[in-house]
Formats: sequence, structure tokens, C-alpha cells
Amino acid sequence: MSLARGHLDRWLRTPLAGVALALALSATTLIVFAPTAAADDRGHGARPIDGVHSVTQGIQYFTDCDDGGITTDCGGAPGHWFSSSIPVQLCTHQFARPASLTAEQFRTYVEDATEMWNTTESAVGYEYLGDCASGFRWEDDNNVNEVGFDDSRDVVTGSAAAIARGSWFDIPFFGIPSDRRFVEFDVVIDVGGSIPEVCLRSVIAHELGHVLGFGHSDQTTDLMFNSFDPDDLSTCPTDATTAEQGLLQELYGVNAGPTLQVAATQVAVPGTTVTLLASATDPEGDPITFDWEQTGGTEVTVLANGAAATFVAPDDLAPLEFTVSARDSYRHLDTATIGVTLDTSTGLPVLQPSFALFQAGTGSLAGGSALGWSTRPDASSYLFCTNAPFTDGSETCTSQASSTAAMDWDTVVGTIGEPDVRRVFTTGTRETSMAACNAAGCTVGGVGPLIGGLRWPSWEMDFDVLAMAFDVPSANIKFTIGGVTNIEGPARRFEIYVGTAADPLQKRIHSCGNVAVNGVCFGLLTPSDQDHLTHLTIVSSRNGTPTTEHQIRIR
Ligand SMILES: [Zn+2]
Repeated sequence: MSLARGHLDRWLRTPLAGVALALALSATTLIVFAPTAAADDRGHGARPIDGVHSVTQGIQYFTDCDDGGITTDCGGAPGHWFSSSIPVQLCTHQFARPASLTAEQFRTYVEDATEMWNTTESAVGYEYLGDCASGFRWEDDNNVNEVGFDDSRDVVTGSAAAIARGSWFDIPFFGIPSDRRFVEFDVVIDVGGSIPEVCLRSVIAHELGHVLGFGHSDQTTDLMFNSFDPDDLSTCPTDATTAEQGLLQELYGVNAGPTLQVAATQVAVPGTTVTLLASATDPEGDPITFDWEQTGGTEVTVLANGAAATFVAPDDLAPLEFTVSARDSYRHLDTATIGVTLDTSTGLPVLQPSFALFQAGTGSLAGGSALGWSTRPDASSYLFCTNAPFTDGSETCTSQASSTAAMDWDTVVGTIGEPDVRRVFTTGTRETSMAACNAAGCTVGGVGPLIGGLRWPSWEMDFDVLAMAFDVPSANIKFTIGGVTNIEGPARRFEIYVGTAADPLQKRIHSCGNVAVNGVCFGLLTPSDQDHLTHLTIVSSRNGTPTTEHQIRIR
């Protein structure tokens, strides 16, 4: 026999009263496929009895009221959810659930149906919230989209398996509507474990198609076709067809889902903190939210922070597996899996890189200065990070093949200026560090200098400055280092001072004289020197141009 998959129930709400105006409370007309014969006919590709081939009419919209029943306020502009209601939130009620169906099965079927509709690349999507937080059974007019079971109210009649009950506002409220806005939908199911699981899944997916705005299709293979045969599982599809996806895109517009990129495998050393990284792109540039979950191996505590997740690798060597999901603002989903194998033979690089090089950049680093750290033979890549000085958390890191990095965050002065001015710069420098990395992870970052740069095109000024304190309190060791490299333009005079915020030019530690293009000059205080003060200042001058002063806090 065939059962009706569902039946549409609908009413119009009036925005004037702010409450539901039930134009009709009991829509009763069902389209029930005639038993056996119809099912058989369909199965054998027979034509309808009058010999007229059923021309594709496409899928009707919910508000077309194609199944008869309520005909008031039907047809015309199709009802749909407005963007402020998207993703459409749904929750489940367990009241009157048949005993043959578990609560978890019910939630799973509903969630899977929402995820199926979220793959249709339309600018609409579902967010399944789990069991409803309030109430115990589905109710009309509570502005909650509920999926539950029929009870003594007996709204699912005849052989129907379920019903989708929707309400909407007409826009404008008077006259012929040019648009229709859904307000609330409830899905009421009247079968449980009495039909095969795939058919129950099909019924739920079909009803959620109504909730998005679909009526019924006259194509037997469509999810929105309105009957199924529980004895023929091929009549129980759980996915929207290509045609149905296309129609949904017409109703809501196209919106494709995000695409995740991850490293599919990673090697970790037991006992170390492991960082998993994902990135995602979205064709429409929608904001992406990430979700991390461990799906295999010894359970670890995953600390997720957006596109990154960290955990401490366990001591046993069983491989771990993690799944990351990315969702756009319509909850369109992409997921990826990262396998982590544990390897005691791979260790982190033994030593962190130490600062080793400051010069004008060449090759791909040309245009600014190049900062280099010692290379580590056990490193396969390096992590170069910069940070606002004396702050935590604003670190920006890039992975690179070599231990030399370009310094390209100059302060650019766009004004012309006067030749006899003295400009003081106290911001614009960044802390630098570099870590050595291999399959096991990265070392702690080796500390580098503070670096800044100045470009003042109207005076042909382009130089980078360096300032660094290297203190080892336990050994009573202090170094203070200042440096400059002239990137382009005529030679300039540079002088390096140490001092305090109140008196930054307290003591000159080095006069560089004129520094030509690509020239580098350092000033250094060693542990045997005094005056390892809090600030390092680099003064730059040339006749006929402004004098600049970079005051950099180093301690
Ligand atoms: Zn239906």
C-alpha cells in the first residue's frame, strides 16, 4: 500500500493583531495515492489511466496549496523565510514518540535531514537545536519551529504519515501579496518504527522541504512527491533531487558552502602540545565558524580556538583522528579529517633559532631589510612571528622555508613636510621571533629584535631600524643593541642613543656617520657597559631634509 508522505496545513497570520489568524484550522484534503495499483504502475513506468502523459509541472510551492484543502490566500508569490530568520532553527519534542523509536534515533533523523538540506547550495539553511528547550509538545503560534508527534489533537489524518503546518504574513497585508514571509512551521509525525527507517527519514526530509517553502512534486522520484510505499524502499528517497535543489536556489538564491583545507596527516611526539590548523574559503566570503571534534584514538582534551585546535599528545602510540567542520552563515558545511600518528623517534628540533642577521634585503626580500636567524639542521621549516611590543596575543605568524624573513611594515609618511622639522616616532615597531619546526612541531620561538621602518618618499628616506635588549638576569648579563640599514635614497647620518621615556637621548652609544644605500650600522652595549636603559633611540639626519627620531622601548 502507499502512504501519503505528508500533507500541508497552512494559515495566514495578520501582522495587525500580532497573533495568528487561523483562516482555517482544519485542512483535511489529503492526496493519498491509490493503494497498490498506483504504486505498481509507478514502478513499471505505466502512464496515467487516461493515457495522457503527466507533463512535468515542477514542484509547487507550499503557499500554492496544491493539495487542495485551504484555498484562501494561495498561489502567487511563494512563501519563504526572510534572511533574518535564516538559518531556520528547528527543535524536536519527544512527547508521544512511539516506543519503537528511540529519542536519539529521532534526533539523528531530524539532524540528518537538516544537514541534507544544508548541502543544496541555496541561500537558506537549517540549524537543528536538539530537543526544544521549553514546552513538552509542539504548539501552534509559539514562534518555535517544532518537530514532534501527533497526539490526542489528531492533526495527521487518514493514511498520511506526517503534516507540515506553516503560517506566514502576506506583504502587503491587503491586496495581492507581492511577497510572503514564513513565521512558524511545525512538523507533526504520525508514524514511528512502524515503517522502515529509510522511509521515516524520507518523510522527515520531505516535511523539512515543506518548511523551506516547497509544495508537492508530481515527479515520483522527487523527495517532494507526496506518497511512498513502505514495502518498496526505492520510493523513500532521503535527498533532494537536482531539480529540487535548483528550485530552492530560485526561491532563495544561490549560496555555495565553504571549502576546508587541512593537512590530512600530522606526526606528533607523545607528551608534546600539538596544534591542528584548518583554513576555509567561501565563494561568497561568508564568515566561517569552525568546530573541532576528536573521532578516534585515546581521548584527549581538545582546546579549540577558531581555525586552530590544540591538545597534548598521549603517551600511547595509537593513532588519533580529528574532524573539523566549517560552516558559513547559512550553516552550509564542509568537514575534513586529520589523522595524527605518534612517533617517539621524531623529536622537536633541539635548539631554537637565535637572531643572526640584519641587512638590506635582496632577491625576493628586496625593498626592506632582511632579518635572519641561525638555521637548524633538524628543522624542515620555520615559523616567523611578529607581535606588538610588550603585549600578548596579537601575534601574527607565517610558516616559511628559510630562517630569513622580510621586514616590510614601514611607517609611511605621506605628507611633504619641512626640511627643518624634527619628527619623533614612538610606534610602528614590532617584536619578532622565529621557531624551528619539523613534523613533531615547533620549538619555542627564538627572540629577535624589535624592528621598524620609515619611508618618507618626498625626502627619499627609506630605512629600517632595529632595537633589542638581551638580558639574562640569572647570569647578570645584559646586552643592548641598536641598528639601522639604509634601504634606498641618498646616504644619511645615523646616531644611536640609550635613555628613558623622559630622556631618550641620555647617552649616545654610537655614531654611524653617513650610511649609504644597503649600508648597515650597529651600536652595542655589552655586559661590561653601564646604562642598559629602557629606551633605544635612532636619530637620522641629512642636510636639507627633516631629522627623524625613532624612540623604541626595549625593556
Ligand atoms: Zn508533503
